[in-house]
Amino acid sequence: QLSGKTAIVTGSNSGIGLGVAEALAAAGASVVINSFTDRDEDHALAARLADEHGVPVRYIAADMSDGDDCRQLVAKAGRCDILVNNAGIQHVAAIEEFPVDKWNAILAINLSSAFHTTAAALPMMRAAGWGRVVNIASAHGLTASPYKSAYVAAKHGVVGLTKVTALETARDPITCNAICPGYVLTPLVESQIPDQMKKHGMDRETVIREVMLDRQPSGQFATVEQIGGTTVFLCSDAAEQITGTTISVDGGWTAL
Ligand code: NAD
Repeated sequence: QLSGKTAIVTGSNSGIGLGVAEALAAAGASVVINSFTDRDEDHALAARLADEHGVPVRYIAADMSDGDDCRQLVAKAGRCDILVNNAGIQHVAAIEEFPVDKWNAILAINLSSAFHTTAAALPMMRAAGWGRVVNIASAHGLTASPYKSAYVAAKHGVVGLTKVTALETARDPITCNAICPGYVLTPLVESQIPDQMKKHGMDRETVIREVMLDRQPSGQFATVEQIGGTTVFLCSDAAEQITGTTISVDGGWTAL
């Protein structure tokens, strides 16, 4: 289905990015996976995906907090038909106590990286005559929660950037959309549980049930496979006229 296409997925040695990379590889795309580390296990992960799916998979290290690195990632890939902006971090604290370095890092990794990679990838998509930009935003791109000022601001920014990218490519065979997941049980969510336990004075199970999944009417986490499947759908012919919009995969969170 996607054979002959090259996909770049930022922040994809774990969690949702890895799930998306696997789904794109399974659909036949050549895939570039990425994170800021450059370890043997990162390259071994690429080799495993290539083996399992019979497609070329490369690991390219690049730090998505650095604009030049973002652009270099796309340049080093050499081709980009599908760009999935997924890299993201979280920090939970009240605005008055929010560390400035965390605010800057979240804005850089969760929002500005998508601007830099998109700027580098659009000329390649225009030259190839086809392109898909998929931004992994969040239910927090559409709604807010206390103590997540930087994350919510960045994700709302991603939704705005998605709309502008769609308008600037509307006459080209290129689309840009944002996927807005609710809670997906990945290392990023795992790492928030201790903070939330402290903030709310609750144990782990109660935080999961009453703080996290309380927002998700289905009462279930979304899965990385579901985010991968939604990405592949956005790359399909059926999605050709879907651009500049958001698709929520949130068990009903934003319907509340
Ligand atoms: P994760 O922590 O499992 O994965 C984050 C990925 O980003 C990792 O591969 C990490 O190596 C990479 N990364 C972090 N900093 C980077 C940097 N400076 N440069 C390059 N790569 C970097 O988290 P996840 O839950 O899989 O999150 C992935 C995306 O999905 C994020 O943008 C997140 O905001 C979004 N999201 C997650 C959830 C959820 O519930 N897990 C919900 C909505 C949106």
